[in-house]
Amino acid sequence: MSYRGRFAPSPTGPLHFGSLVAAVGSWLRARSQHGAWLVRMEDLDPQREVPGAAEDILATLAAFGMESDEPVVWQSRREEAYDAAFAHLREHVFPCWCSRNDLAAAEGMHRGACIATVDSTRAPAWRLRVNDRSVGFVDLLQGEHVQNLLRDVSDFVVRRVEGGYAYQLAVVVDDAEAGITEVVRGADLLDSTPRQIYLQQLLGVPTPGYLHLPLVLDCTGAKLSKSEAALPIDRDDPIPALRTALDFLGLRHAARASAPNPAALLAAAVQHFDLTAIRTKSDRFPALD
Ligand code: GLU
Repeated sequence: MSYRGRFAPSPTGPLHFGSLVAAVGSWLRARSQHGAWLVRMEDLDPQREVPGAAEDILATLAAFGMESDEPVVWQSRREEAYDAAFAHLREHVFPCWCSRNDLAAAEGMHRGACIATVDSTRAPAWRLRVNDRSVGFVDLLQGEHVQNLLRDVSDFVVRRVEGGYAYQLAVVVDDAEAGITEVVRGADLLDSTPRQIYLQQLLGVPTPGYLHLPLVLDCTGAKLSKSEAALPIDRDDPIPALRTALDFLGLRHAARASAPNPAALLAAAVQHFDLTAIRTKSDRFPALD
């Protein structure tokens, strides 16, 4: 089966250095496997979306020499596919009116029975019931990762109060439909992966391989995040940020290759790409010290 990878940004702000590292890592891995690299815009949550951010991210990726091999998939246009998956899950989901406050005493966990009662005056969220079992996988970079869904995660939301589908469901439906063979993304999603594997099992779709890249941390040790507009990158001068991203990933030779433009630098980096050289641990961005 030929390799199909993807990069799936959320349009909550411009591409920043942390997401550039994820984009470059997934692009290089796909190209080193002679595979396809696809872009999916995860614009599922209008409340978190920043107008213009999606187009801005695509323009930045293009300036850095990375363009989707197939038309970009927009999650906001895929409601029907999520409806079908949700219908398939009907025996496993239940409506829930519990608020964060209701769940606070249980550390935000929802195990089995709801605390709040049915309230026909307002819309519920829909949760997927999980059971007391371990779901694990072997990440290509981070090694074995196992969670007990009931203990570590609990019944989780697949459809939000406002009616929109949750990331966990959409990502599984979209990766399956796109025929993604390996998911390469930031290590902040390592803990979401067992939930996604469980959903894949319930929906009867294949489980791709997983490779979770190290995160770029800010000076407090937290993940750089678009919502904080952290370290946006200059698309008029992409080479320095691209070299820094390659260096951050651990691809030191690639970072120093001579190249007249980003596409040439990425092509050189594919030649030097070595999974065993990729850094496993998240770290602070050097310039933040
Ligand atoms: N949209 C998610 C993000 O921007 C990534 C989802 C994924 O790669 O599975 O963090």
